[in-house]
Amino acid sequence: MSSLALVFLYRSWGEKPFNKIQTLLLWLIPLGVAILYEPLRVTPDTFLQRVALITITQEILVVWQLWELIKFYKKDRPSIVSWIIFLTIFTLIGNVFRTYRILTGDGPTNIFLYTEDAFALGLRWITYASNIMTFVALGMFYFQKQLTKENQIANALKSTKEENEKITELLKEKERLIYGLMKANKTAATGALSASIAHELNQPLGASNLNIQFLKMKLERGALNPGVGKEILDSLEEDNKRAATIVRSLRSIFTEGESNAQEVRLSDLIAKVLDIVKPELKNKNIQIQLRVDDDLVIRVNSSEIEQVILNLLNNAAQALANSGTLQRRIAIEALKTDNSVQLSISDNGAGVPEDFKSQLFELLSTTKQTGMGLGLWLCKHIVTRYSGSIHYEDAVGGGAKFVIELPLN
Ligand code: ADP
Repeated sequence: MSSLALVFLYRSWGEKPFNKIQTLLLWLIPLGVAILYEPLRVTPDTFLQRVALITITQEILVVWQLWELIKFYKKDRPSIVSWIIFLTIFTLIGNVFRTYRILTGDGPTNIFLYTEDAFALGLRWITYASNIMTFVALGMFYFQKQLTKENQIANALKSTKEENEKITELLKEKERLIYGLMKANKTAATGALSASIAHELNQPLGASNLNIQFLKMKLERGALNPGVGKEILDSLEEDNKRAATIVRSLRSIFTEGESNAQEVRLSDLIAKVLDIVKPELKNKNIQIQLRVDDDLVIRVNSSEIEQVILNLLNNAAQALANSGTLQRRIAIEALKTDNSVQLSISDNGAGVPEDFKSQLFELLSTTKQTGMGLGLWLCKHIVTRYSGSIHYEDAVGGGAKFVIELPLN
């Protein structure tokens, strides 16, 4: 039975099930032994044959064990298995000789422990010893297997720890990179804003300069009549205000909070901005459609919201000038919704290209050759500071529409 159990065990190492012939053999061997044994048992003087039958059966099973062991050994070549093979061969040799002695010897002297001669006894002990050694080797095999497993677990744990450390290091590196990028971005934004301030200020300053030159020339020639003088001074005053507005609104970007917020009527703010842009709109042949409720009061820093409206109107005017639209039109609408004021500025130009919409309000994103990509970003920045929002939608009938929501005072 132990020989059969070892066949099962060795085969399980290879993780292979028994095929049909092997299963048949597993049944046939014990069955054959039983069939042969029974007639021998009832026949007198067949003790030697019965012992031989058992040892032969054992030898068949030991050969099978060897076959399974060699197959397993060929795969991994574990040293302990080579020892088991060696011991199994020894068992087989001992068994074969014993069978031979039993069948050819002279009865009890080679079969009973106490009457056996030295040779038979030697064979018996060789068989027993190699059998016991096999089981010891088996114990060692499993012990070694367990050790390998533990080593593998320890190694796995070690490499997991190392990987964890690497991931932590990578995460730190990522944070450092993001921080660096943010810093670079901030520098870029500040640089861009400075450029924008310079650019925006240059316009009223340039205009003032021209007016001053003109005024000087007239004075030198003594040809200044009061009407022209007042016109030039008005224009200078307007440019001055424009410059002041720009400086104020740009300064406000860097100071958080609703600085100098006052209650103002939206219609007044719009009218003020329209006064500034009207000449340009006229030049570009753009019509203004105004639908603004008169009683909309918001609490804001008026110069900032003026800046927002101005930016949107300038963009609309530029878009119309660049489009082939003949009937150029900008519509300004402001109405009250639940708890807020909704202001929309739309034009019938080409509108915003689909693939640009997602980055419309991002800093430095522009489609214009000389654009800075600051206007809409600034609008969003200002509006968000007043807990408001701004979004883009395609205007009905084509064109761009920017919608601003501001909390009602
Ligand atoms: P800039 O005017 O310097 O390009 P903005 O932030 O004001 O910066 O505008 C970003 C971009 O949004 C513009 O380059 C333009 O492509 C698009 N845009 C803004 N307003 C309009 C509009 N009314 N019609 C079509 N495109 C517009």
